[in-house]
Amino acid sequence: MLYWVCNRKLPSKGEANNMAKHFYTCQEPDCGFVFERYGEVAACPRCGRRNLRPATPEEQQKCIEQLRQIHGKV
Ligand SMILES: [Zn+2]
Repeated sequence: MLYWVCNRKLPSKGEANNMAKHFYTCQEPDCGFVFERYGEVAACPRCGRRNLRPATPEEQQKCIEQLRQIHGKV
Protein backbone atom coordinates (compact mmCIF):
# COMPACT_ATOMS: atom_id res chain seq x y z
CA MET A 1 0.00 0.00 0.00
CA LEU A 2 1.39 3.32 -0.99
CA TYR A 3 1.09 6.33 1.22
CA TRP A 4 0.57 9.27 -1.08
CA VAL A 5 1.81 12.29 0.74
CA CYS A 6 3.68 14.92 -1.14
CA ASN A 7 5.46 18.00 -0.04
CA ARG A 8 7.49 20.65 -1.65
CA LYS A 9 10.49 22.56 -0.44
CA LEU A 10 11.20 25.72 -2.32
CA PRO A 11 14.82 26.33 -3.19
CA SER A 12 16.70 29.16 -1.59
CA LYS A 13 17.53 32.16 -3.70
CA GLY A 14 19.84 31.19 -6.55
CA GLU A 15 19.35 27.46 -6.14
CA ALA A 16 16.40 27.30 -8.50
CA ASN A 17 18.58 28.40 -11.38
CA ASN A 18 21.15 25.70 -10.78
CA MET A 19 19.25 22.74 -9.44
CA ALA A 20 16.80 20.55 -11.30
CA LYS A 21 13.48 19.68 -9.69
CA HIS A 22 12.93 15.96 -9.16
CA PHE A 23 10.25 13.68 -7.82
CA TYR A 24 11.39 10.82 -5.61
CA THR A 25 9.66 7.71 -4.31
CA CYS A 26 10.65 5.93 -1.12
CA GLN A 27 10.88 2.20 -1.74
CA GLU A 28 10.40 1.15 1.87
CA PRO A 29 7.24 -1.00 1.87
CA ASP A 30 5.85 0.63 5.01
CA CYS A 31 6.52 4.17 3.74
CA GLY A 32 6.13 4.77 0.00
CA PHE A 33 6.44 8.52 0.41
CA VAL A 34 6.44 10.50 -2.83
CA PHE A 35 7.94 13.96 -2.70
CA GLU A 36 9.33 16.76 -4.77
CA ARG A 37 12.71 18.31 -4.15
CA TYR A 38 15.30 20.43 -5.85
CA GLY A 39 18.65 18.77 -6.37
CA GLU A 40 19.88 15.53 -4.93
CA VAL A 41 18.26 13.91 -1.90
CA ALA A 42 20.11 11.51 0.37
CA ALA A 43 17.27 10.17 2.50
CA CYS A 44 13.49 9.98 2.68
CA PRO A 45 12.12 12.99 4.66
CA ARG A 46 9.39 10.81 6.16
CA CYS A 47 11.22 7.68 7.35
CA GLY A 48 14.83 8.85 7.08
CA ARG A 49 15.98 5.79 5.15
CA ARG A 50 17.92 5.92 1.93
CA ASN A 51 15.90 3.55 -0.20
CA LEU A 52 14.87 6.08 -2.84
CA ARG A 53 14.31 5.95 -6.57
CA PRO A 54 13.10 8.55 -9.08
CA ALA A 55 9.31 8.65 -9.21
CA THR A 56 7.59 7.38 -12.34
CA PRO A 57 5.56 9.84 -14.46
CA GLU A 58 2.38 8.28 -13.03
CA GLU A 59 3.59 8.85 -9.47
CA GLN A 60 4.60 12.39 -10.34
CA GLN A 61 1.10 13.05 -11.66
CA LYS A 62 -0.50 11.69 -8.48
CA CYS A 63 1.84 13.83 -6.43
CA ILE A 64 0.90 16.92 -8.44
CA GLU A 65 -2.81 16.13 -8.09
CA GLN A 66 -2.46 15.78 -4.34
CA LEU A 67 -0.53 19.03 -4.07
CA ARG A 68 -3.32 20.71 -6.03
CA GLN A 69 -5.92 19.36 -3.59
CA ILE A 70 -3.94 20.52 -0.60
CA HIS A 71 -2.91 23.94 -1.85
CA GLY A 72 -5.59 24.70 -4.44
CA LYS A 73 -2.99 25.28 -7.10
CA VAL A 74 0.44 24.09 -8.13
ZN1 LIG B 1 10.41 6.63 3.40
